[in-house]
Amino acid sequence: MFQRWVFVLFISVFVFSHNATAGNNFEIVTLGDRGGIQDGNLTAFLLKASKDKNYVTLDAGTLVNGLIVAEQKGTFEHVKVPDSSPYNKVGYLLKERVKGYFISHAHLDHVAGMIIASPDDSGKSIYGLASVNQALSSSYFNWVSWPNFGDRGDGFQLKKYKYNDMPPKKWLDVKGTSLRVKAFPLSHSGIESTAFLFSNEDAAMVYLGDTGPDKVEKSDSLNQVWTSLVPYIQAGNLKGIMIEVSFTNAVKDTMLFGHLTPDWLITELKQLERKAGGKGSLEDLKIVISHVKYSLKKGEDPKVVIKRQLKEKNDLGVEFIFPVQGEGLIL
Ligand SMILES: [Zn+2]
Ligand SMILES: [Zn+2]
Repeated sequence: MFQRWVFVLFISVFVFSHNATAGNNFEIVTLGDRGGIQDGNLTAFLLKASKDKNYVTLDAGTLVNGLIVAEQKGTFEHVKVPDSSPYNKVGYLLKERVKGYFISHAHLDHVAGMIIASPDDSGKSIYGLASVNQALSSSYFNWVSWPNFGDRGDGFQLKKYKYNDMPPKKWLDVKGTSLRVKAFPLSHSGIESTAFLFSNEDAAMVYLGDTGPDKVEKSDSLNQVWTSLVPYIQAGNLKGIMIEVSFTNAVKDTMLFGHLTPDWLITELKQLERKAGGKGSLEDLKIVISHVKYSLKKGEDPKVVIKRQLKEKNDLGVEFIFPVQGEGLIL
């Protein structure tokens, strides 16, 4: 009898603790893994809390093509389209399961997929800093570049998309999900880009749009993002950092135009390590590398070079992950 009781207790503790951690992870699907110039594979990710049904996107450079590639790779095998739905799986995901777009900045490689899909999309919120939403409305949804699907700006407003201007550094609830989010401005060669810090109960992850190093940008923006992550790191609750490395170390600082190289990313992560408690404080932290540019030149793929250059200098003990279009990741 006693043994049986211990066994039941053991099983319930195991199941309970297992569920507790599983419920607080983040699931990512890579819709586009490049920072340019490969149309059909530009920066975009789906994000959801493990326990949620609904997604948001992190940027939207490639949208429908990314969903098609992910479906072909079997990444959405677990998603069942209800019999009552008139849509195929890609349509169902886009129209019913994606509840909003988080746009880091309005450069085309981060928004092209959203703009192109808009005529057949469902109504959603576009979340961005005020300057980013302003750029979307004045540059694209203006009846010159494209019809105005927004709820502000020039000409007749079709109001499919609701611009949600995010106040910097304030928590907001993400409608239709159990996520909360806070936006931090980033410096991207003269324009404002954004880092989005997502939390789901105790767990957190951060997605950074295009950014240069603080030293080159003469900015304090990354420093402020790092400071905000310290409590999560110290509590063991930071599940991952998604950040760009656009170029190899061969690119000079004057030619970075608001981007990072492997050496600059390591320099920045060392700042974070120092703030989080010094040597070893980032051990095993997942760092997802986005925005590597496709190269037209003969020779080694820049992705292979960047992977090697990061590995050589990785005395932080972090795990660098290179996402692939159509594949899923768990943070
Ligand atoms: Zn970009
Ligand atoms: Zn950019």
